[in-house]
Formats: sequence, C-alpha cells, structure tokens
Amino acid sequence: MRLSAYFLPLLKESPAEAQIVSHQLMLRAGMIRQSSAGIYSWLPLGHAVLRRVEQIVREEMNAAGCQEILMPAVQPADIWQESGRYEAYGREMLRFEDRHERAMLFGPTHEEVVTDIFRRCIRSYRDLPKNLYQIQWKFRDEIRPRFGVMRGREFLMKDNYSFDLDFEGAKRSYDNMFSAYLRTFKRMGLTAIPMRAESGAIGGSMSHEFQILASTGESEVFYDAAFEELDLLAPDLDVDTIQRYYAATDEQHLPDACPLPPERLRHGRGIEVGHIFYFGTKYSKPLGAAVTGPDGEDVFVEMGSYGIGVSRLVGAIIEAYHDDKGIIWPESVAPFDVALVNLRASDTGCAEVTGDLYAKLKTAGVDVLYDDRDESPGVKFATMDLIGIPWQVVIGPRGLKAGVVELKSRASGETEELSPEAVVDRLAG
Ligand code: ATP
Ligand code: MG
Repeated sequence: MRLSAYFLPLLKESPAEAQIVSHQLMLRAGMIRQSSAGIYSWLPLGHAVLRRVEQIVREEMNAAGCQEILMPAVQPADIWQESGRYEAYGREMLRFEDRHERAMLFGPTHEEVVTDIFRRCIRSYRDLPKNLYQIQWKFRDEIRPRFGVMRGREFLMKDNYSFDLDFEGAKRSYDNMFSAYLRTFKRMGLTAIPMRAESGAIGGSMSHEFQILASTGESEVFYDAAFEELDLLAPDLDVDTIQRYYAATDEQHLPDACPLPPERLRHGRGIEVGHIFYFGTKYSKPLGAAVTGPDGEDVFVEMGSYGIGVSRLVGAIIEAYHDDKGIIWPESVAPFDVALVNLRASDTGCAEVTGDLYAKLKTAGVDVLYDDRDESPGVKFATMDLIGIPWQVVIGPRGLKAGVVELKSRASGETEELSPEAVVDRLAG
C-alpha cells in the first residue's frame, strides 16, 4: 500500500475525550473514529489489526476442536423469556419491536440462541461433545462506555458454547478452552493471568477471567507473585496446576481467606480480555435442551460459555506495547509487516530503489506500507513511529551511495545497514 493513497487520518493532538493511552493512540493513528458514545467505525489501519486479532482467535479455536458458526445479531425476545433472562438483563439490553410488533433485541450474548439451535438439532448423546463458536458484534448499552474500544457499547466478541453429557465431559471442555485461551493471548504477545471469578464448587459453576496486567485496567486483581515467573505454556505445566495458583478479582478475593503469605500476594489492576464459564444446565433445563443418554433416559446437557473481547484486545495490546512516540505492534497482529520510508521522494535513485523493494517484498508476500509522500524525514519518522509498524526500511541518498539502506526495529530502535537485496531476504525469510 502506498501511503499517499492510504486512508490514514492522523491527529496531531490527543483528543481531550481520550483518557487512556490506547484510546489516544487509536484516535491519533487513524485507527478508529467514534460514531456515537461507545460505537466506533474501524478505519483501514484499525480494521487490519482487528482482523489479525480475530484470525489468531479463530485459528486457536479451530485448533482446539471448535467449529465456527455465525448466529444472528438481532434476536427474538421469546427465547430470553424462556430462559428467564429477559427481565433480569435490565437496561444493558437494547430492545425494540419489528413491524409485526414482535419483541426483538440486539444480542448482548448468545446462550439462548445457541441453546435453541442445539435443542432443535441434537437428540442423542452420541452427537456429544460439541463446541460451537462465532465471532460477532454484540451490543450492550453500558452505563459508562469509556476508554474507546475497551468498554464500548458495540463490540466484537468471540463466544464459544460447549455441550457435554456429564460434568466430567464439561470439565474437559472447560480445561480445553482454558489452555486454548492461554495460547491465544500468548500469540498476541500478551500474558493473561487466569483469575478465579466464581467460587468453583464442583457441580455448581466454575469461572475464570483472563486479565492482562495494566495500570489502566478496570479490574482490581490479586495474584500469586509466582505468575511473574511462570511460563503458562510450559509443556510440564498442566491446567490443574495453573488453576491451583492463587489469582482472583476483587469480587472473589477475601483478604481474611486468602491462602497466600503476604509477601507472595501481588495487588494490581487488570484488563479482562476473556472470560470462561461452566454453568451446567442453567440454560439447557429451562429451554429443554436434552439428549437421550446411553440408558435411554433424557439428560439435560451440561454447558459452558467462553468469551474473548476481540475489539477490546486491540486496545489492550496497545496498553501493553507503546512508548512516548506511539504504538509498537507485536509482529503477530501488526497492520503491516514493514514500512518503507523514502527520505527523498524527489530523488530518482531513491524512488527507484524504494519502488523495487516495494515490488519485491510484495511479491514475497510481505505486507508493506510505502511512504511515498513528499514530506520531511521528521514527519515520515513520526508517522511510522506513531502507527507502530514493526520494521522500518529507511532509504536515503547518502546510504544508497554506499549501496545500503537502513533496517530499523520499532521495538528496540536498533538499526542495521544492509543492501536492498539483504533486506528482502531478511524480511521475506
Ligand atoms: P466486563 O466485566 O468487562 O463488563 P463481562 O463480564 O460483562 O465483562 P463477558 O460477558 O464475559 O464480559 O464477555 C466476554 C468478553 O467480552 C469480556 O471478557 C471482555 O473482554 C469483552 N467485553 C465485555 N463487555 C465489553 C464491552 N462493553 N466492550 C468491549 N469488550 C467487552
Ligand atoms: Mg459487562
């Protein structure tokens, strides 16, 4: 993509309404624009990151044996009346009527819809287990939308629903999701600490929130100092062991009952990027989602649901990866792999070498943003540092005389002089 043609509305100043750095940077870098409170348009740069985050989530869910579906954003109220949540959900639910005066709503979550699908399609224990997921926009009329995409009213969520015959199966599904979540966040460069979010009585409910430590997080969290050293993906560390380490959000943390000695207890703030929940027959019973068991008796299925805040993650990644110049994208979610900065657009030698690099990198499948604008080097560097592309290749007349260009890492700031051919080999390799 040539920057001269790219739709990238940058802002010089941080807008006054943005209180936290990720919101400020998303606006300044032209990633999003607000449409109304808590509702955003995703512009090309933001959209590219959102799609990459979404794709990592999708790949990890598929690898964990889940199947992707897509349920409607607009739902009928009657299934919510059946589950008993229609009144209980309160004002966070956006409700309206269609032209036939049928009560409808914009889905804040999808347990009812998926349970309705299940009860109409699955009748036998032989068809279990199943784990279905979607990546879909939700609407929750949050009382205080804030921090940009972190707490929006409209937001993109990945939500899974598991169906099992018995508790043992449901626990296996839960633990499978637990591990998949650790892998998913890790691929985005994030360490998410799984925190108890429910008392965890066997047969009752089990729940973990996955929290990214950040001073701007909305959750107050307490955790074992051991998490600072633990490699949660180490092959010899099983789910049960991880779940035994203490970590809890403030609602679950009771200072008097905390098993940790004071010197091991850490206290901080976190961003909730995922939430997994086992809730047994809470929806299958009222909605009548049962299968015939091995002994011929009907059994209500055991369910769990598992959410990831896909759009919130974009903000959370920026909270974790930025400096005073701007965003520093981890390579796995970056909107482009590499930026070409031509310091002298008017110089034919520079334009030729940059154009050639651009063509070769694109052919090699590298995603390139080429700054071909007639701007000063200062403006070009500031732009690239703000939008955070992991690698910058700087092409200038002085280097070209010696046959080299400069390869710079956005994260470390380290530079290296290489021939243009070596740059292609390095970035395409
Ligand atoms: P919160 O406590 O932050 O309101 P929640 O418990 O209501 O979250 P869930 O219903 O478990 O959230 O939703 C799954 C995930 O969706 C959350 O872990 C979070 O990452 C994301 N999420 C929830 N509400 C919002 C929102 N208003 N804006 C952006 N992401 C959200
Ligand atoms: Mg909420």
